[in-house]
Amino acid sequence: MKTDKVAKVCLLATGGTISSITDPVTKGLRPGLSLDMLLGTLPRELGSIDVIQRELFLLDSANAQPHHWQDIAGAIKTIYDEMPDIEGIVITHGTDTMVYSASAVSFMVQDFGKPIVFTGSQIPASMPWSDAPRNLLDAMRVAAFGDIGETCIVFNGEIHRATRTRKLRVNSYDAFDSMDPIPIGVLTRDIVLYETRRRRHNLVPKFDTRLDSRVFLLKVFPGLPPGILSRIVDMGYHGIVIEGFGLGNIPTVENSLTGAIRQAVNQGCFVVVSSQCAFGQADLSLYEVGRAALEAGAMSAHVMTSEAAMVKLAWVLGHTRDPDIVHEMMSKDYVGELSALGGSNVYEI
Ligand code: ASP
Repeated sequence: MKTDKVAKVCLLATGGTISSITDPVTKGLRPGLSLDMLLGTLPRELGSIDVIQRELFLLDSANAQPHHWQDIAGAIKTIYDEMPDIEGIVITHGTDTMVYSASAVSFMVQDFGKPIVFTGSQIPASMPWSDAPRNLLDAMRVAAFGDIGETCIVFNGEIHRATRTRKLRVNSYDAFDSMDPIPIGVLTRDIVLYETRRRRHNLVPKFDTRLDSRVFLLKVFPGLPPGILSRIVDMGYHGIVIEGFGLGNIPTVENSLTGAIRQAVNQGCFVVVSSQCAFGQADLSLYEVGRAALEAGAMSAHVMTSEAAMVKLAWVLGHTRDPDIVHEMMSKDYVGELSALGGSNVYEI
């Protein structure tokens, strides 16, 4: 464990449960703790970590919008320009939409070469049994000393790749899981890393916050009226991620989605099909009800989670709407979003 020097870490606050208090009037939890107050809840001094504080916003992350993702990425650029000697960045954020924001930052800030660590808590830092002190200390430790060069989520003793993570539990301290097969690391007496592909480095970072926020995320359910797709296109959306059943399957008989997908694609809307299952991946080649989506012009999200696929499509469409380039960019692995450690589903029937 590397603790012999003072490491400079920037702490960027955006709100969430971690910094929430109970509003005396509404009786609801809302962000209200300053960073000083948040750091004051830690049980001990940070010792060899020098914390530079930045307050960006105090939002419940349910209120985070795509422009907030751009604000966070912009703040990271400012920190990079002002403090080239920092070891890493910690971003406190609500857990509800942390995966979206962290995925967006992954695409918008590439080759940062130092840990960009999102964290939060299930219970406000102001409460005695809160998980905030542990998560904050763990996140600081990873930002200061972790040999990680990418955007990650540190929570409940685990380090997850942002684009491969989902919030799966409402109440448990263990709110997040990596989708296939394991976190990229865990915090024990040492910071143990299972994944070695994206270590610290000194490349020049790429900041690119272009985004087309007109991307829709639609969950298929039995009885979904296919006409909803043309409504979405008429509303001005340029992309739709359809969360299909299982491997990404869609209805093709009654309430068939194939004609609606074909029509959306012909109107210049890009359709990506992901899986609504928590684990595994979209594979549209196995069943007729998957192949039909491909034949209608949809792209497969492959191993991408619906959240990562939606954020990536918004980021890609912020750059181009040329079909060939969109298809190429959606199938290119930028930040590990397409690299499931467990590999793809293999069937022999
Ligand atoms: N509603 C909160 C938020 O996302 C939940 C949390 O942080 O755990 O901001």
